[in-house]
Amino acid sequence: MHNFLGLCFESSNQNFIMPEGPLLVMWKEQVQEFIGKKVTGVETTTKLDAERMNGKTITDITTWGKHFLICFDNFTLRTHFLMFGDLFINNRKPPEKPIKLRLYFDDAELNFYSCAMRFIDEPLDNVYDWSADLMNETWNAEAAKQKLKVIPDTLICDALLDQTIFSGLGNIIKNEVLFRMKVHPESKVGKIPAQLWNAVINESVIYCWQFFEWKKDNSLRKHWEAHRQKVCPRDDVKFEKQYTGELQRQSFFCTTCQNLYV
Ligand SMILES: [Zn+2]
Repeated sequence: MHNFLGLCFESSNQNFIMPEGPLLVMWKEQVQEFIGKKVTGVETTTKLDAERMNGKTITDITTWGKHFLICFDNFTLRTHFLMFGDLFINNRKPPEKPIKLRLYFDDAELNFYSCAMRFIDEPLDNVYDWSADLMNETWNAEAAKQKLKVIPDTLICDALLDQTIFSGLGNIIKNEVLFRMKVHPESKVGKIPAQLWNAVINESVIYCWQFFEWKKDNSLRKHWEAHRQKVCPRDDVKFEKQYTGELQRQSFFCTTCQNLYV
């Protein structure tokens, strides 16, 4: 249902969640039809020199983890949706919700909310290590393991959220994967057995793609076993809810079944 004149307001990110890699991959799929379209107008409330996109044709749309990338000849618009960002495709939020950027096309529009934007003037291959993105076809688990070797004292809850190692992995994925693998979020990277690390990394990729499928059919939340849950489904005991690690992101975990490696 496309109400691109904004006659009907609805959420594109229904049951709002923080934008993690899989949500951006879903949005990327939804906007592929914009490749080849020419921007016919721009509106922005940011300091971005958005006019430079006016009259330009989109050559590609891709993602690197939590970066949403709209490519033009010689430059790219990079959007990070932060904690509460949203993308509305041929649809708008109610007018009282402040917009960051609106791109008009002949028969369509893209609306960006609560995000940080900048232009990249270099070739993207110079800027991004694509193999660090869990959902990229060049994802390289071995490279991630090498990066973990040099941070043995870092807590796993911080390491999983490190975008230079696991690009796209966000707090939901962190909590769910640690629960599945029975690892306490305050475990030290260097104390976790190599076999278990292999399993954690594999599971992170699997969970990203499950997240992607569940988000598409609006069933993500009902699949959460740990994130924002109160009771451990394995042990029927109360989950701990704590801000963990240097990043102080919220962790939900069970001290009965999730082992602490220190
Ligand atoms: Zn448990």
